[in-house]
Amino acid sequence: MLFEDIIFGPIKSRRLGNSLGLNLLPVHKKLCNFNCVYCECGWNEDTKDIKDSIHSKEDIREALEAKLIDVKEKNIPVDSITFSGNGEPTIHPDFAEIVDFVVQLRDIYIKDAKISVLSNATTLHKDDVFKALHKIDNPILKLDAGRKEMFYAISKTTPNQISFETVKERLIAFGHDAIVQTLLIRGENDSIKLDNTSDEEFSAWLEIVKKINPRQVMLYAIDRVTPESQLEKLTKEELEFFADKVRVLGIETKTY
Ligand code: SF4
Repeated sequence: MLFEDIIFGPIKSRRLGNSLGLNLLPVHKKLCNFNCVYCECGWNEDTKDIKDSIHSKEDIREALEAKLIDVKEKNIPVDSITFSGNGEPTIHPDFAEIVDFVVQLRDIYIKDAKISVLSNATTLHKDDVFKALHKIDNPILKLDAGRKEMFYAISKTTPNQISFETVKERLIAFGHDAIVQTLLIRGENDSIKLDNTSDEEFSAWLEIVKKINPRQVMLYAIDRVTPESQLEKLTKEELEFFADKVRVLGIETKTY
């Protein structure tokens, strides 16, 4: 599913309530430095031309302000302005500046709404992104695996593209402000077995979570059509089983 505009919704989100989506990335196309086997936007395409069609910060500001005026006038409830959409929002070159004006506009028009970013946490090594994510209410940062083999298998990336060690280190540095999001799956892709729920994998993931000490963990299962069809959707009971292993550490954990 690809989004067709800069702003979409508000839509009912499993995790964020009435969520007004903010897509910084191209419309009708996905742009991400991951290529997750479960990505609801589908597999990555050649990104050469896509990068040129990224929205400018001016267009984003104008579209958001117009929408916020509209929802305020019509009394449409918005719980969260959510950076999500067709790929990884933090790879927009003006991400930090955009966060600043989204905070300003939220304060003017719908001051009770939260600001949320769904990110794969791969750009936390950039100082401006790291600081910008600390300015918002809900920095929801992905960590799908505790061992590098599973990290690369699920995200379909390589060490030449993304350093798992750096992602880990920067998440730990980000610390208690973080909300860690993890999709639990079992399945197969390109003859590689995928399972981040085995004892070995889950324990390795839990070790990193302990070090991050996030304010919350979100565990969730696939919900929509995935590009890789050989994936198993975990049940709510299974998610709760794993959530309890996090809760004993004193970390608030929700399942979706
Ligand atoms: S990080 Fe998000 S947008 Fe990127 S491939 Fe994974 S699920 Fe899709």
